[in-house]
Amino acid sequence: MNIFSLKNKKAIVTGGSSGIGRAISIVLAKQGALVYILDMDEKGANETITSIQKNGGNGVFKKCDISIKKEVDDAIKSAAGSEKKLDIIINNAGIAHIGNIEKTLAEDFNKLFSVNVKGVFYVMKSAIPFLKTNGGVIINMASIAASVGIKDRFAYSMTKSAVVGMTLSVAKDYLDYNIRCNCISPGRVHTPFVKGFLKKNYPGQEMDMFEKLSKSQPIGRMGRPKEVANLVLYLCSDEASFITGSDYAIDGGFSRLNN
Ligand code: NAD
Repeated sequence: MNIFSLKNKKAIVTGGSSGIGRAISIVLAKQGALVYILDMDEKGANETITSIQKNGGNGVFKKCDISIKKEVDDAIKSAAGSEKKLDIIINNAGIAHIGNIEKTLAEDFNKLFSVNVKGVFYVMKSAIPFLKTNGGVIINMASIAASVGIKDRFAYSMTKSAVVGMTLSVAKDYLDYNIRCNCISPGRVHTPFVKGFLKKNYPGQEMDMFEKLSKSQPIGRMGRPKEVANLVLYLCSDEASFITGSDYAIDGGFSRLNN
C-alpha cells in the first residue's frame, strides 16, 4: 500500500515552472495527482510537465499572474472543471526583494504585497468553494523570514508574516469543512531564486558567495527543492490528518540552531 498516494486528486501548484514549485509538482504528480501549474512562465512550466510525464504523471499549464484576480479566478475555475472539485492547493509562487526599510521604495513594497500576499489571498479565495464539498488541503509557502530577523528583507519579511497570518485564519475558519491549512517556512533552498539573488547582488563573486552562504547554514549546505517537496507531500497526504494551522520550518537548523 502506498500511504502517500494522491490518486484521483487534483492539485493546484502556483509557481510550478521553477525551483521549489517544480519539485512539488513533480513529487505530487508522481503520487498520482493531476497537477495544474499556475505560473506566468510557459517555457518553465513545459519543462516541469516534461519531467512529470517522464515519471508517468499528468500536468497541465494554466498561464496566470496570481496578482491579477481575474486570471486567478479563470484558472482555478477551469481546473475545477465540470465536477467543480479541487483537492490540494499549493500557494508556492513568490518573489523577493533585498533591502532594509530605508532602501525599500513604496513601489517595491506594493509589488511584493501584490504577488506574495494578494496572490495567496486570491488563490485561496477562489479555490476554497471547490474544496468545501469534499474537504482538502492548502499549503502556503512562507519563509523563516517571517519568524527570524533576516538582514535586508524588510518587504519580503512583511509578506511572509502575512502568509502565516492568513494560514492560521483560514485553518480556523474551515475546520468544519475538513480543509486543513498549513504553511511551510523554508530556510535557504538552492533554486533560481537564490541564483538570481547572488547574480544581482554579488556579480562575479557568485561561487564564493554561494560557498559562504552554504557554510553559514547550521547543517553546512542549502536545502534542495525536493526536500521541501517531500514535506509538502507528507502534509498533503492523509497521514497528516491531525495537522492544521501549523507552520513548519525546513531550514537545516537555521531558525533555532544559529547561535
Ligand atoms: P523561483 O524563483 O525559483 O520560482 C518562483 C516561481 O514563481 C517562478 O516559476 C515564477 O515564474 C513564479 N511566479 C513569480 N511571480 C508570479 C506571479 N505573479 N504569478 C504566477 N507565478 C509567479 O523561487 P523558489 O526559490 O522556488 O521559491 C518558491 C517559494 O518559496 C517562494 O514563495 C519563496 O518566497 C519561497 N522561499 C524560497 C526560499 C529559497 O531559499 N529559495 C526560502 C524561503 C522561502
